[in-house]
Amino acid sequence: MGRHTDPDTLRFIAWLSDKAKALGYASEEEYSIANWYDIDVVWYHPDYENPVFTFEVETRNTNSMFKNTAKIYSTPKSVVKKPWHHFGIVYKGNLSEGNRLALGRDLDYQNFEIFDNIFNNQTALSNFETHLNRLDITQISELVSSFRNNALDTVSSMEYIIHVFGEKTPYVVSDQFVLSLERDSYEQIPSYIEYLRNRVWQINREKDITKKDLDILLASTRVVERVDSNENVLLSMSICPKCGEKVGSRPPIEHYGHPEDPPHSITYVDGCLICDYELNRETISI
Ligand SMILES: [Zn+2]
Repeated sequence: MGRHTDPDTLRFIAWLSDKAKALGYASEEEYSIANWYDIDVVWYHPDYENPVFTFEVETRNTNSMFKNTAKIYSTPKSVVKKPWHHFGIVYKGNLSEGNRLALGRDLDYQNFEIFDNIFNNQTALSNFETHLNRLDITQISELVSSFRNNALDTVSSMEYIIHVFGEKTPYVVSDQFVLSLERDSYEQIPSYIEYLRNRVWQINREKDITKKDLDILLASTRVVERVDSNENVLLSMSICPKCGEKVGSRPPIEHYGHPEDPPHSITYVDGCLICDYELNRETISI
């Protein structure tokens, strides 16, 4: 049995399920995620693996809104599949300003919206309904999905670059980048990552894509390409792309089980002879 007992709220939940069918989605109530949470209503579309919409309905303004939002957004994505949009609904009366403020981070950074004071309020109900009609996942254009895919690919390349070279401008950039524009853009990588990560899920239609989105995607792609190609050029000359020193084979590292026994394995590393940049690492058992 569900946690809801208020007959009006139950009718509203049933309305959400009917609405799903009318818009071409499958819906499920009291949907169990990862065996220990329920979501009031989940809408699916056969072409998408993740839920399209999830809804948590509170009859009145309570703190449950926090727990219900956290179980969607604060859980690992390997355990809880993230919806395209999540809705928090306070059916009778308004969400308090304090509660709304405390949910601000999710409201700013996720596709999360709050609708309240819907019961006996035809205007609020039709606003909510219009919003659902407008968010049609089947209408996401080729352009929007290619922006999204490019942004996500570029973000993971930038994360890898930061992982290898760190946040401070490495040799590969300071020595090899002739244009000062690109030299500066290396240190912008963390802000590019944050910007694109947020924007990817805020863009639903072509008209949502701004000039700034395109500029930042272009700058990100450019810095990734330049780091990649210059890294290869420097390596072909046995120069470390991270610090500018020599790359070669480091002295092998012997691993001992007991100090008096011979080593049980040896690790061979090719990489910079000065800094932590590595090309290849192999451990061989003897
Ligand atoms: Zn180095």
